[in-house]
Amino acid sequence: MKAASPFSFPVSPGTQAKLARLGLFRDADLVLHLPLRWEDETRITPIHDLLPGAQAQVQAVVRDAKIAHRPRRMLTLTVEDDSGLLGIRFLNFYPSHLKLFQPGECFRFVGEVRGGFLGLEMVHPRFSKAGDDTPLPAGLTPIYPTTAGLAQATLRKLVARALQAPLADTLPQAWLDELGLPGFDACIRALHQPPADSAPNAVESRRHPARQRLAFDELLAQQLSLAAARAARHNLLTTPLPAAHRLTADFLSRLPFSLTPAQIHAWKEISLDLAAAHPMRRLLQGDVGSGKTVVAALACLQAVENRHQAAFMAPTEILAEQHAAKLTSQFEALGVRCAWISGSQRKSQRTAAWQAAAAGEVDVVFGTHALFQEAGRFARLGLVVVDEQHRFGVGQRLALMQKGMEPHQLMMSATPIPRTLAMSFFADLDVSTIDALPPGRTPIATRLVSAVRRDEVLARVRNACLAGGQAYWVCPLIEESEKLQLQTAENTYAALREQLPDLSIGLVHGRMKPADKQAVMAAFQAGAIHLLVATTVIEVGVDVPNAALMVIEHAERMGLAQLHQLRGRVGRGSRESICVLLYQPPVSELARARLKVIYESTDGFEIARRDLQLRGPGELLGHRQSGLPMLRFADLEHDVALLETARDWAKRCLSDAPDVAARHIERWIGSRQALTGS
Ligand code: ADP
Ligand code: MG
Repeated sequence: MKAASPFSFPVSPGTQAKLARLGLFRDADLVLHLPLRWEDETRITPIHDLLPGAQAQVQAVVRDAKIAHRPRRMLTLTVEDDSGLLGIRFLNFYPSHLKLFQPGECFRFVGEVRGGFLGLEMVHPRFSKAGDDTPLPAGLTPIYPTTAGLAQATLRKLVARALQAPLADTLPQAWLDELGLPGFDACIRALHQPPADSAPNAVESRRHPARQRLAFDELLAQQLSLAAARAARHNLLTTPLPAAHRLTADFLSRLPFSLTPAQIHAWKEISLDLAAAHPMRRLLQGDVGSGKTVVAALACLQAVENRHQAAFMAPTEILAEQHAAKLTSQFEALGVRCAWISGSQRKSQRTAAWQAAAAGEVDVVFGTHALFQEAGRFARLGLVVVDEQHRFGVGQRLALMQKGMEPHQLMMSATPIPRTLAMSFFADLDVSTIDALPPGRTPIATRLVSAVRRDEVLARVRNACLAGGQAYWVCPLIEESEKLQLQTAENTYAALREQLPDLSIGLVHGRMKPADKQAVMAAFQAGAIHLLVATTVIEVGVDVPNAALMVIEHAERMGLAQLHQLRGRVGRGSRESICVLLYQPPVSELARARLKVIYESTDGFEIARRDLQLRGPGELLGHRQSGLPMLRFADLEHDVALLETARDWAKRCLSDAPDVAARHIERWIGSRQALTGS
């Protein structure tokens, strides 16, 4: 028996497979598969009137067809209408073509006109056999994005089939009137089959009402499904972990500082979430150095107060180790039992740590993401803290959930999410923001210095270190090869040791054995190393307040977020901090724009906003994006107002017209993966 076709008309299994590659699984998907562009085949241009560079259609009779061999093998035709002669060339052709183009036969050719050696010509035009009675299409001809082996004509026919039935609107007419948007059916037809008199570039414009309608529909579907995912999460149950103010109060009283108002605010939000009976999914965002760790530590303690365990994950060994080193002593002073699990640990140690976690003999476990790639078990896991969340993929978030546990989750990120992204792709998370740095920080001064003046920079490093300070030297980033990266780091290290013989210099890079790495970091932390040469492994989280100078080599190769993160390693103490961005001229336009942003701003939000402008949201989303359907019609950079409208209407839709919501999600998300980011 044949499997039922998901289409309402016959489509061969082979074609179905090709359509699947385009994400087209049913009629509704074909309907939403919009043309890339349109060609005007509604008119026939006399050969005499052809203009070089223009797209045109001619109807002409073959006068002569032959295979030429110079400059290369090709099929050349001379065709003729009442007004003149035109040359046609095919560089790829089959013997059957020669048979087809019999002298005297009439064809239509569509293509770009060029001025050739012997007058005007078309190279590789589309063609079809035609006579004077062959009708011309009534509208522009759509050109669809397609895939290997699926002919444009086949795809066009399939889309036309899908468009045969009238398309019901998902939204009530009264809403459309209020929104000032046109009906769905008319919009879809306007884009697939624009009337002959519409200029192709008007249909292509983002401002075209039909495009606005589809962008709105898409954003509305996204908002609706995010709201549904959120509602589903609010239906999940977990153990409430209410504040007992025992360990947390004790911890706070021992801190050498008091929390900033921004930290207190974030902490209150988190504390309330933990007390609720459904799992928290909160993102704590705050610029580098804003003090997120203390807040996360408080969250762990609230879990422990409730006799539950907390897992504290960081994306790199260095960072996980730092959190563990710093917080373990603070926690143990309160009687909280801590453990450390890492991928590079000896097997026996790791097994012992997991056993303790499973037996409930430890309260807080620190580690890298290795924590959740293993089959380890917790006795009573109440809270998972994920530091530098943007470094983990959505995959990890999901893996964690698939273990059948629903602990509370606190994610932290120093890469602020621009408002439009927060409202769309991250809308399934609650967000707390620490928007002010702790007091007493001196602002970081950023200097842009050409590599030509490297010697002056060396002198400055030397002076700073001999005066009791410490410094970072960040090696150039070699993205293409880890091996080259390592070599560069080692060369830089060797060169600096030679150039600065009276300084004590250390090196850390990603390929080092964890124990060696830890030893170097500990020596730097203790002040035994003046200058730490590092690859971008120090990008996240490392905290040495006495280091107030940073040199970044080949800063022009790095991304904005990366530069901002790196720079955030200095400016942590009361010393005046300087970040020197060494660049190697000549610098590309884009790199210049990036350096300008980082020079002008130290505000992470502003930098993220400019980053979004320079790169577009796709890249910024990184892994978070994987598995989530991209926006095809809406554009977060330009459609902010539309996004806000969609959000408001999604709320209204869910409360007033759940049937509309269901219908709309079915059309727009349907067979595609639902948005389940939470
Ligand atoms: P990030 O948000 O980048 O993770 P951290 O949590 O590492 O920042 O904090 C940066 C530094 O600021 C740490 O040395 C921390 O002890 C210190 N710090 C945090 N909160 C305060 C505060 N309220 N007052 C003074 N220093 C603070
Ligand atoms: Mg941090």
